[in-house]
Amino acid sequence: MLLYKDIIKDDNLILREKSEPVSLPLQQEDIEIIEKINEYLINGYNDEIIKQYDIRPAYGLAAPQIGVLKKMFVLLATDEKGKVHHYGVINPKIISHSEEKAFLPQGEGCLSVDRDVEGLIHRHKRIKTVVQLFNFDTKTVKEEQLKLEGLVAVIFQHEYDHLFGILFYDYIDREKPFYIPENSYSVHIEQKNEAK
Ligand SMILES: [Zn+2]
Repeated sequence: MLLYKDIIKDDNLILREKSEPVSLPLQQEDIEIIEKINEYLINGYNDEIIKQYDIRPAYGLAAPQIGVLKKMFVLLATDEKGKVHHYGVINPKIISHSEEKAFLPQGEGCLSVDRDVEGLIHRHKRIKTVVQLFNFDTKTVKEEQLKLEGLVAVIFQHEYDHLFGILFYDYIDREKPFYIPENSYSVHIEQKNEAK
């Protein structure tokens, strides 16, 4: 079982490498990796397990963060309307996006960044993606188009960036970290109060 201490932190340059596409049909070792990532995220929603083990909750985790340079990540989050999004993502491509941007008002966090980094990240508000979607029950993949927006689009882009060696704070404007462009909108997250 994957623990927080197993997650590679940003002082390790492996996080700056580009990941390779996953070969299909899926190999057993790749199935095990995506299942391990998935288990970590699910554990993050279980208070008992968090109390007992070294787990920090997250909305997503990408293979490079556990030292595997392959294009895979898992996303598990509830959107602004209360819908649960749970995707095992393999070989994703973002094929189009909105001009409008979206940002998390409290900024972004990352399991690989063990500190708070202040500043806003403006990402595409809506994205259209093509992925090989992993089915955790049948352990098979199927090509799907995912149209995502708001919180889930932001998380998808954060995880997608890990496959290219990009970390969220790369985007923060050092001169004006809290600058909000005219076309960028705050993502409302229910459990957090929007800080002024
Ligand atoms: Zn991250």
